[in-house]
Amino acid sequence: MADLIIRNASLLDGTGAAAVEADVAITGQRITAVGSVGESASNEIDAAGRTLAPGFVDVHTHDDGALLRHPGMEFKLSQGCTSLVIGNCGFSAVPAVVGENEKSGLIGVTPTWTELAGFRAAVAAANPAVNAMALVGHNTTRSLVMGLERRPPTDNELEAMRNHVRSAMAEGACGFSTGLIYEPGRYCETDEIVDLAKQSAEAGGIYATHMRNEGDRLLDAVDEAIHIGMTANLPVQISHHKSAGRRNWGKIGLSLAKVDEANAGGADVTLDVYPYTAGSGPMAQYFNLEKIDPELAEVIRFASCPAFREYEGRMAVEVAADLGIPVTQLIHDVISAPEGDRTLCIQFIIDNADIEENLRHPLMMVGSDGIPDLRGQPHPRLFGTFPKVLGHYVREQGVLALPEAIRRMTSLSCDRFGFVDRGRIAEGQFADLVLFDPDTIIDTATYDDPKQEATGIDMVMVNGQIALRDGTHTGVGGGRLLSSGR
Ligand SMILES: [Zn+2]
Repeated sequence: MADLIIRNASLLDGTGAAAVEADVAITGQRITAVGSVGESASNEIDAAGRTLAPGFVDVHTHDDGALLRHPGMEFKLSQGCTSLVIGNCGFSAVPAVVGENEKSGLIGVTPTWTELAGFRAAVAAANPAVNAMALVGHNTTRSLVMGLERRPPTDNELEAMRNHVRSAMAEGACGFSTGLIYEPGRYCETDEIVDLAKQSAEAGGIYATHMRNEGDRLLDAVDEAIHIGMTANLPVQISHHKSAGRRNWGKIGLSLAKVDEANAGGADVTLDVYPYTAGSGPMAQYFNLEKIDPELAEVIRFASCPAFREYEGRMAVEVAADLGIPVTQLIHDVISAPEGDRTLCIQFIIDNADIEENLRHPLMMVGSDGIPDLRGQPHPRLFGTFPKVLGHYVREQGVLALPEAIRRMTSLSCDRFGFVDRGRIAEGQFADLVLFDPDTIIDTATYDDPKQEATGIDMVMVNGQIALRDGTHTGVGGGRLLSSGR
């Protein structure tokens, strides 16, 4: 007998097929029947008028540390996300040095592990609400082996980095990531990435990249990503695809054309996007202290600012006006202050027309790029990404159809990142599910009030257990760090 039957749902199975009315039976962690289910279960949900879809997969997260610090993962679960890809932009939980947290992208967690198996045990002990799949990051690996050196690695250093990547892949990582605008990734040459990406390729992994440039030299950066994929012989994921800075708006079409042409010629490139016109990240990484870029300074908002908490949630231009100083000086002062390197900013650098063009592309997945620092005023994408795509871009703007949007949040993502038996509603698949109202689903997180859960989501199930129902997080902790099946 099934544990639970969801009846009369409008079912989107994750393949892109049109909705059909169906029942879904769940037994243990898996879906055991789909269609007209004759048997009964002790627990039944009448889902008439609601859409049932596979749980959404956030393919671009920085939640490595959040799985341990915030195991309830309310900011993801409340969007309908049941699985995440961690370790993006070259920053990952592994490799690590026990007791040392400076080199990773963990945000406030001190490692008790060195490699992925140890991190998996830490995640299991934390019992998080959602599943995750790990990438091993270049910035983290390079920092651990050679600090912030601005030179190519020696043969020994390169071999040490290779060993870390191989180890992570052997222990279930789905690929290798870079963040080539950040330290120390920006100091590496393309050959170093090709070499390390080959270690991922040999284990069936992918290469996910925050490219070297997302503005004036976007197209060169796309060429580099394609070259790395072709030379190391592995699939490429271009992360948070954007054309940054007003003078570069509209280049997204050229960039996507390059991807299409490469794929027609034998490359294997896919992408992801977040549905916001602002990016976010560590402020110190975006500015040269010797020469603060005034155009960028004008569009900066403070998210987390340990040195000046009173600036959080405010535009830099407004703070500077209050202080009676140029905005460039304010940026300089904040970065130079004690703990100034821990400032997170939000930068309004993206054109909405480029977001829509991205979302129309059939190989475009959705990734929030949320940074889970809940102390400040984080970018609203942390709480709102998936409902914003479904409510704003699908329902209100008609940029893409609902079944196709669901496909790009589920089966496409799962197949790409090595999730096994997930991403579709079919007999035998894991019961990662989201029940929502397509007529009302919408994000409510804003730049002024960013830590708000979306509305229109009735129920989220992870590995067969109800994790969220009618706005209440049940705390079952059904998630785990998965191993890639690539
Ligand atoms: Zn990034």
